[in-house]
Amino acid sequence: MTAGTAPAETTEAKRKMKDDAERAKERPKADNGQDAACRAALTAIGARFETAPAINDGKACGIDSPVLLEGLPGGITVDPAATIRCETALQLARWMEGSVKPALKAAMPGETVTALSQASAYVCRNRNGAEEGRISEHAFGNAVDIAGFTLESGKTVTIRPADREPTLEGAFQRAITEAACLYFTTVLDPGSDAAHQNHLHLDVKARRGGYRYCW
Ligand SMILES: [Zn+2]
Repeated sequence: MTAGTAPAETTEAKRKMKDDAERAKERPKADNGQDAACRAALTAIGARFETAPAINDGKACGIDSPVLLEGLPGGITVDPAATIRCETALQLARWMEGSVKPALKAAMPGETVTALSQASAYVCRNRNGAEEGRISEHAFGNAVDIAGFTLESGKTVTIRPADREPTLEGAFQRAITEAACLYFTTVLDPGSDAAHQNHLHLDVKARRGGYRYCW
């Protein structure tokens, strides 16, 4: 190491610490009253979940009061079980009830969802897995990625680029994607960018003025 590199490294380390501190401010704070109300609502809607221990992964990553979501109303398995904030789990259950189930009934009469396949829940990383840049909502337990659904007949419905797919399955995917914006504040689908070709990214990030970002 040359004498000249040390100050630069120190500056870099300081910058990183400041970055992490900034990011930590975005992490939702635990609110016992809100948590209890959320868990009661999650039980009432018929979801299956366990209380999970607090997660603190350093940097800004973690969840103060996570749930392990195992099932959604109507005996739907969450595969694999998802570690997320209660609020995320509740909105996922509401979306399944309010949008996915009715849309499936119209698109494929006689079918029901038996499993929801999730591709990512809590994970300590930046957006799109980048080295630099903003921390992902996944790192706060605010987000869940939906890869597809398994139906009672054994058929699977996978999320894919379907903006122009001229089929009922394409219409089903477009319907549930549009409706997701009623429940989640961020919806990114395979039409939004290369990083989301095979899943729907849904999150409950709180933005000023209730602003939503749905593509
Ligand atoms: Zn995601």
